[in-house]
Amino acid sequence: MNIQKIRADFPILSQKVNGKPLVYFDNAATSQKPIQVIEAEANYYKEINANIHRGVHTLSQLATDAYEASRLKIQQHINAKFSHEVLFTSGTTHGINLVANGFASFLKPGDEVMVSALEHHSNIVPWQMLCEKTGAKLVVIPMNENGELIQSEYERLLSDKTKIVTVNHISNALGTINPIKWMIEKAHEVGAAVLIDGAQATPHLKPNVQDLDCDFYVFSGHKICGPTGTGILYGKEAWLNKLPPYQGGGEMIATVSFEKTTYAELPHKFEAGTPNIAGGIVLGTAIDYLNEIGFDNIATYEHELLEYGTSRLLEIEGLKIYGTSNQKTSVISFNIDGIHPYDIGTIIDKLGIAVRTGHHCAQPIMDFYKIPGTLRASFAFYNTKEEIDALVEAVKRAKLMLS
Ligand code: PMP
Repeated sequence: MNIQKIRADFPILSQKVNGKPLVYFDNAATSQKPIQVIEAEANYYKEINANIHRGVHTLSQLATDAYEASRLKIQQHINAKFSHEVLFTSGTTHGINLVANGFASFLKPGDEVMVSALEHHSNIVPWQMLCEKTGAKLVVIPMNENGELIQSEYERLLSDKTKIVTVNHISNALGTINPIKWMIEKAHEVGAAVLIDGAQATPHLKPNVQDLDCDFYVFSGHKICGPTGTGILYGKEAWLNKLPPYQGGGEMIATVSFEKTTYAELPHKFEAGTPNIAGGIVLGTAIDYLNEIGFDNIATYEHELLEYGTSRLLEIEGLKIYGTSNQKTSVISFNIDGIHPYDIGTIIDKLGIAVRTGHHCAQPIMDFYKIPGTLRASFAFYNTKEEIDALVEAVKRAKLMLS
């Protein structure tokens, strides 16, 4: 991988922030965009902008073809069996809410919905709302001190009451990679469906939904070099056929009369209204970009950054890393003894370094560790070891100022 060549694709990375070269380590929140993606978005509006699936005119055909070509590309990328199992959404949150809403038709009091202790709020709250609506019970798979799910507890909690298990592939707050293939197999043994939140996994790996055998897999475009307001919900055909539509409107119908409406076939049943056409098309461009670099190369390089970053940060006395599983991606969540993460984050921002501070939309994890939050440095394939050195120096400086 030629990192300097890759970095040249990302205009934002050559910026200065607060007079210092930008070091962007908030990739778990959103990734930066290569020029290929930025230009593809502009070109769509310059050349083919039209509404899709409706017009017979040429531009409408071109826009429809490009949108559907992107769906095919994403189908191949995640190895879905059918392209109609790939639904465009506005992001992970949208995909989870769509499934959680639909499950209201299947649940009754006493049924159980299982989430994990490692979830992002968007994979907790929609399920809590579902439980409130149906009388089902929310069951939580606990975690251990290393930030791993306790597998024996998961096996113990599963029963024929479990109707759906929903768990992230990779934790955004700690970087832990969950053993989802095994978890899916176990859930299926008791007849439960499984939704995988792939928001943090898809920047680092290529999910193979048929091999995983998950029932649903959701992710966001903006975390994989694509535009904001884009995302994918993969669902097995049988589940998507069973699930009621989430929103009503144009595009999702077969026929409408005041007496009765019939719904369109998949995938349109779940794609009411004019979608983010440009975004959906450009998400395909982003996936092409990543595949050209190669996910094996990305994973190997990011792992190097993780190991380097971990050992360099641990040089700092009083620094503690949360999430110490040996199965993790390039996320380092840490605190320094006696100093609030927000104070360090504010000082290092003045030095041009962007990290996340706070609970990372995963308050239960912070409660587990009894901390208000962490500093989170999350690395992407366009980051460098020199940037990690800059982070370490900045944190040392902040520590000195605050001690
Ligand atoms: N799940 C995880 C694991 C995430 O990291 C995020 C984004 N931080 C989400 C869900 C929500 O994604 P979005 O805000 O793009 O809908």
